[in-house]
Amino acid sequence: MSLGNLRDLYQQVILERYKKPRNRGKTNPIDRYQKGHNPSCGDTIELTLKLSVEGDRIEDVKFEGEGCAIAMASADLMADALRDKTTIEALEMVQRFQAMMRGEAEFPQESRKLNVMQGVAQFPVRIKCANLSWHTLKAAVEQSREAELAGYVSNEAEG
Ligand code: ZN
Repeated sequence: MSLGNLRDLYQQVILERYKKPRNRGKTNPIDRYQKGHNPSCGDTIELTLKLSVEGDRIEDVKFEGEGCAIAMASADLMADALRDKTTIEALEMVQRFQAMMRGEAEFPQESRKLNVMQGVAQFPVRIKCANLSWHTLKAAVEQSREAELAGYVSNEAEG
């Protein structure tokens, strides 16, 4: 497959995900809720997560929002890739995605669908669109860490 055809294929996947997202909506229950906004393009996202009882594994991910095809397709692909990942794995994937947008990394076999976003790295003005959902995810996951930390501190104070 030539590089040109490969690029077309990626564009096709992005457009399909934009038109027919698989992960739109809200999780039930909503264990984490986080809004994200990309002012440079006007993309907005509302991300919801359902976590395991222990809070260390992502059982479901949904998103709502408005924006360009790249922002919405990125959120939809991210949601697929995150299901059943631990929160630590999810944060590693945030780093890997951001590295991929700098042209420095790609995803292994298991998450290879995310590599369709790789082409966006060639368009610096659209990188923020692709990163929005991952940036929002990071904030959603770190909410729980802060809450745990806060819980720990208050327990110490009580003791
Ligand atoms: Zn955008």
